[in-house]
Amino acid sequence: MRIKHLIKNHILQCKIRNLIKDQYGLLHSTELLLSIILLLFIIATIANLSDNLNEKILSEEEFNTLETIAIESSDYLLNNPGNPENWEEDDGLNNGIVSRNIIPGLAVKKKIIDNGEFYSESESDEILNGSYQSTMAIYPLKSKIGPLVMGNLDDNINDNNIAVVNRTVKCDYYSSFVVYDFNDFELSGDDYDEDEICNHDTNPNLTNHSNDERSLWLCKNFKIYKKSLENYDYYLISDESIKNSNSYWILESLNKTNDDRQSLDQEIIDLNQVFINDLENSSEDIYSIHFNVDKNHINNFKTVLVAIPKNMTNNLISNDELKYDYFNVQDVNFVMKISYD
Ligand SMILES: [Zn+2]
Repeated sequence: MRIKHLIKNHILQCKIRNLIKDQYGLLHSTELLLSIILLLFIIATIANLSDNLNEKILSEEEFNTLETIAIESSDYLLNNPGNPENWEEDDGLNNGIVSRNIIPGLAVKKKIIDNGEFYSESESDEILNGSYQSTMAIYPLKSKIGPLVMGNLDDNINDNNIAVVNRTVKCDYYSSFVVYDFNDFELSGDDYDEDEICNHDTNPNLTNHSNDERSLWLCKNFKIYKKSLENYDYYLISDESIKNSNSYWILESLNKTNDDRQSLDQEIIDLNQVFINDLENSSEDIYSIHFNVDKNHINNFKTVLVAIPKNMTNNLISNDELKYDYFNVQDVNFVMKISYD
């Protein structure tokens, strides 16, 4: 086997979240990936390089060239936000049209990468003029997120003629929708101190939320505007381990406090109706959410409060993406395979 797996660790952020960011053209990941496929397809069809390269085994030189292209293309994609930088918002992409001026990139700008800067020069201008078949795939390492595979590599191509690049990168799916990540416990463990004053501690009619021998309290206040309910859906999303966390929660507005602890054992809790009902006669309110977690099961407590743009909610639900792992940056394997066309 002449396929070389080139594995390097990069601290990069894939741009998946931005790709899916439904802001102007409201581009969904699948469409974006389709557009990348289209782009690769266009690249492949522009070409007129080699006729029957794949019917024979490539020479050492041919393979080395292919491998260099694979490495440089991967590096470019993973180290650059693309050109133009907001290329994923291009109107044409919504209609499956890929402008010749677009060079896709998957990096999220302003994140730390190897040398602290994006590659300023696009070596890929040259790279992209060749004639290739390729696939790109993203395989999450440890999570319930499914893989993404895109591209046009023919299944029948001899493995010896395929150059493979494998990079471990950090991929950001939907973490920008997180309002609160309630994982302070994990960071501080037994030393955890409440960083916000809980209204239950100062109200003599309510149970005190000081930590005790058995459990910790995590209490947060946040404001919701009635208007924001027109644009966002609010959910409390937990890892499936929440069932074993022996946790309880209370959600209340500061005007209607209560001591009614509910067991926290569902992965998805829709909060919209709570807010809609409460804000019927007001334009905003301050809420507090209180979690009580068993000290012995702190590691099972993984919960985020998210606000999802309403026009994306149905997509997330139908793609089974309303899951805790999608709201945290994940380590993924990025695998690119290239052959001559
Ligand atoms: Zn509290």
